[in-house]
Amino acid sequence: DRLEIRAARILLDNDHYAMEKLKKRVLEYLAVRQLKNNLKGPILCFVGPPGVGKTSVGRSIAKTLGREFHRIALGGVCDQSDIRGHRRTYVGSMPGRIINGLKTVGVNNPVFLLDEVDKLGKSLQGDPAAALLEVLDPEQNHSFTDHYLNVAFDLSQVLFIATANTTATIPPALLDRMEIIQVPGYTQEEKIEIAHRHLIPKQLEQHGLTPQQIQIPQVTTLDIITRYTREAGVRSLDRKLGAICRAVAVKVAEGQPKETKPDRAEMAEGEDCKEHVTEDTKTESISDTADLALPPEMPILIDFHALKDILGPPMYEMEVSQRLSQPGVAIGLAWTPLGGEIMFVEASRMDGEGQLTLTGQLGDVMKESAHLAISWLRSNAKRYQLTNASGSFDLLDNTDIHLHFPAGAVTKDGPSAGVTIVTCLASLFSGRLVCSDVAMTGEITLRGLVLPVGGIKDKVLAAHRAGLKRVIIPRRNEKDLEEIAVNVRQDLTFVMASCLDEVLNAAFDGGFAVKPRVEHLNSKL
Ligand code: ADP
Repeated sequence: DRLEIRAARILLDNDHYAMEKLKKRVLEYLAVRQLKNNLKGPILCFVGPPGVGKTSVGRSIAKTLGREFHRIALGGVCDQSDIRGHRRTYVGSMPGRIINGLKTVGVNNPVFLLDEVDKLGKSLQGDPAAALLEVLDPEQNHSFTDHYLNVAFDLSQVLFIATANTTATIPPALLDRMEIIQVPGYTQEEKIEIAHRHLIPKQLEQHGLTPQQIQIPQVTTLDIITRYTREAGVRSLDRKLGAICRAVAVKVAEGQPKETKPDRAEMAEGEDCKEHVTEDTKTESISDTADLALPPEMPILIDFHALKDILGPPMYEMEVSQRLSQPGVAIGLAWTPLGGEIMFVEASRMDGEGQLTLTGQLGDVMKESAHLAISWLRSNAKRYQLTNASGSFDLLDNTDIHLHFPAGAVTKDGPSAGVTIVTCLASLFSGRLVCSDVAMTGEITLRGLVLPVGGIKDKVLAAHRAGLKRVIIPRRNEKDLEEIAVNVRQDLTFVMASCLDEVLNAAFDGGFAVKPRVEHLNSKL
């Protein structure tokens, strides 16, 4: 290993913007490695949405260590012989991917990136996750036996790094052997920086363009991020930048050919006398020819109109403020493997027999949340003066309720929509509008408590992206706010709620407090 922590830090910082937590953990790992050479290190597992740089950090680590890098894609692998190899008695038998990888790189201490461990399959041919257990256990893998080789092989020098989109589908035994490092999505500001420091220069180079030919201001990058992509990582941003470069390449190539050819010929002729030319004049002549090659309108400025020409009309629009124009709508925050999202929960009521209809492909936990919410509201209807259409406190009397969670094609589950459902129904039964700039998340109980939920950072980033101003989160999630960038925190107001009263008070303008009814006592005399 070529280990120098200071150099490693610089290299990691140069290759990747942001990702502070991940870089810190990787440096710790490398530092221990420098102090103690034969570290039986834990296996690091980067978990996060696609396109946040998990694979490329793995590659950077190999580069810092000066080791060979090999990526093993585990997505869809459903045969344990894929890991362990086939016995030689079989026709077409071959070693497993681990030994094969070692054969490819030709050394016994490469960095192995086990990509997508959460997408391992299972089939009649055995469970590859079980075979991986032995590979990944630092206590056991010094004598890994591949069926094909049939002798023990020492894997303890190999540095394994795993990546996954979610920990939910990783078998628990496998999860136990790895140290999980969460790689959350990026904020808009981080994406802009990543685009300008890394993605744009890379795309320019790939398309043979120079910064003198194309200029992409930060406003345009922001436009691409907000109107043309919706993702936690930067993959589709990268693709859109590629599309822009292609369009510009056409313009540059159209303007170029006849002017540049004679220039090149001249330069070739002049090569003989090159030795006599001093450094200064040489650079001058090159910049002269570059100027000649550029048509007058260079650099091509990519503004909003150019964006529209190249990428088409914007794909995503923010519609927060219009949507909350009627009672029975509230904004929730959802976590998906692609990052956080805001979600409009809609409710309506109609004459009926007290039935609850739920649509939007909900899982069992989410359906239970809806039942919990209704029960809590029914038991507290008098306190909050909630009535059904005919003025009765029995909310379901002659009334059907329909709750819908949009993006109907996407399966949703989890308890974190509880507070949103309560707010949405409270708005429906009270006829009051929920504030348009409030989003919320939290699990509820029958007693009206608000319990902590996961994915707070992703959810808050989504709320910030959508331009919301206030976020209601469970009080016990307050600690998670520390992970969020200061500028995002400054833009938002956080309301910590430990019970549903606090949620409702924060979600409605002027609060939702129990109003004492002014009753005129008629004298009985
Ligand atoms: P993942 O493995 O998480 O799905 P990749 O590692 O393939 O994603 O990253 C996709 C692309 O995004 C890569 O080209 C990478 O260089 C770029 N990228 C992601 N995050 C960053 C970052 N923080 N700084 C620079 N480039 C990044």
